[in-house]
Amino acid sequence: MQTTTTDAQWLAQAIELAVANVADGGGPFGAVIVRDGELVATGQNRVTPLLDPTAHAEVQAIRAACQVVGDFSLAGCELFTSCEPCPLCVSASLWARLDRVVFAADRDDAANGGFDDRAFYDVLAAPRDTWTTPVVGLRPADATAPFDAWVAKVDRTRY
Ligand SMILES: [Zn+2]
Repeated sequence: MQTTTTDAQWLAQAIELAVANVADGGGPFGAVIVRDGELVATGQNRVTPLLDPTAHAEVQAIRAACQVVGDFSLAGCELFTSCEPCPLCVSASLWARLDRVVFAADRDDAANGGFDDRAFYDVLAAPRDTWTTPVVGLRPADATAPFDAWVAKVDRTRY
């Protein structure tokens, strides 16, 4: 009979990874990905050691889990993370088609720890012309050429 590990136990493992990562030179974030009650992969925030602003714990876990399952879809998997996923990680979770995301601390806790999670949620909710990083569409005549090429490619891998 398969042992059932509860949500709280997976979260505890994510928190353990996060705390351990602080001593290991990373940020205070950890994540685990689970399928059918079994651990698939873990991730820890490695932004500063890897010089990679996208190396969030959730993204690291998603990348590792995809290698384990051999697919770019994590449908059927669940993500447990030590902190509410930032907009990057929410988006990565959606792209990965995860079944569910469960978090421990929230964006306010992250803000109190000195992280921008809440600020970025606020930015996304604000009009784009107020953003600190301008995101500008210029739309040249060939703007849709990549999609034309994609749609015309009959053997494309859909995702
Ligand atoms: Zn994130």
